[in-house]
Amino acid sequence: MPACSSPTVLIYLFHPNALLARDTALQMAQIGYPLTVFATLAELVAATGRQAPAIVLVDLGKVSVNAALQQELLRLRQLGNFGLILLSSRGNFEARLNAVQAGADAYFIRPVDLLMLGKKIEALVRHRELPPYRVMQVSEDDRHAEILRQTGMDVVCTHKPAELFNLLGAYQPELIVIAAELQDCSGIDLIRLIRQNVAYLDIPVICIGGQSGDTMHVPALIAGADDYLAATIDATHLVATVAGRAERYRALRGLIMRDSLTGLYNHAAIKEYLVREMSLIERHAAPLSMAMVDLDFFKKVNDTYGHPAGDQVIRSLARLLQQRLRRGDIIGRYGGEEFVIVMPATTRDAAVAVLADIGVAFAQIRQSADGAEFNSTFSAGVAEAGGHADAGSLLRSADAALYQAKHAGRNCVVAASPS
Ligand code: GH3
Ligand code: MG
Ligand code: MG
Repeated sequence: MPACSSPTVLIYLFHPNALLARDTALQMAQIGYPLTVFATLAELVAATGRQAPAIVLVDLGKVSVNAALQQELLRLRQLGNFGLILLSSRGNFEARLNAVQAGADAYFIRPVDLLMLGKKIEALVRHRELPPYRVMQVSEDDRHAEILRQTGMDVVCTHKPAELFNLLGAYQPELIVIAAELQDCSGIDLIRLIRQNVAYLDIPVICIGGQSGDTMHVPALIAGADDYLAATIDATHLVATVAGRAERYRALRGLIMRDSLTGLYNHAAIKEYLVREMSLIERHAAPLSMAMVDLDFFKKVNDTYGHPAGDQVIRSLARLLQQRLRRGDIIGRYGGEEFVIVMPATTRDAAVAVLADIGVAFAQIRQSADGAEFNSTFSAGVAEAGGHADAGSLLRSADAALYQAKHAGRNCVVAASPS
């Protein structure tokens, strides 16, 4: 029984060889990804039509993606919004190019590193569930913002240059659209101002031209704009430019902000989120809680079962937290075997109850290492933000509560007394 299977992710596999299919399915189930196997592409297509999965794996064996197969895969793609991963023993450039042309999101060469495949599955699943792109527009003209909103993007607008940095901090856009000409100042100067701030060196900035036409093009690029579009740009071109740049920015930020072992936010990212959520408490007039979680006697787990088994325990807790916590909760790997969870709109007592439930579930997971089985537990300290001056003092309160939980015998959750 896998310690960390995710029953919500439906994965289909087409593999022409029944024996190899069973072997792949068995190994994938062991690392937490049960597969539904199909012996023919036609059966896979029919099942996808009935219920679209999150991921489709197509094993090509030694076959190349020829024109007929490409058409079949493209038709399959149209049946739903799922990730398509091709597995093949061919690794040459042409085979990879054919796979991309057939609409594949990823291509793995056999023998496949199943952990890497698992990571790719997680990334594709996460990508499908991503919230809309956050765009900020600085302009007196709302037309472009309106076009972007119609495609589902989340767009905040201002025409007051003085509001720029406050809004940037609070809204954390993934792309900025700036009009080259504003009433109070030049958009080009604003771009320069944004680029002078190291925190915004990498955010994509698109400049929209004004009355003076293309004369602003070169100055905008020199000031640090990534692109310059004429005010009369058509909707399709605008949306493609914004979506493409926002997607890449999000993907890069995701790599920088995520911990590679668990896929959770890393130390710097979770602290950043905690600071941001604390700055929003007053505006939302809602409680905010946070938890510091630490695995019990983890050194002993490593010493007894080995470091890879310890890593597996860390991963299993990460996945359990992802499954059990709410969508709005923010989970980070704070250190080696320590996690920080930021829980917006949650009181301290509610947070304690949730963590205690997760603690019971985690203690029941049978961890396995080289044939041996064992159970692991964690301790947690919970604190509510109200009364704390900043993120640092909130973290200290949760840490002090965690310390008490350890002293109380571990495998428990302790609430910090209100400050
Ligand atoms: P306590 O119940 O008091 O928390 O005991 P503990 O043994 O968990 O205490 P401590 O925090 O001192 O030990 C944490 C250990 O976690 C030390 C380190 O070897 C191990 N560790 C840290 N990061 C990783 C990691 O990424 N993988 C693995 N396998 N072990 C890690
Ligand atoms: Mg520790
Ligand atoms: Mg520990």
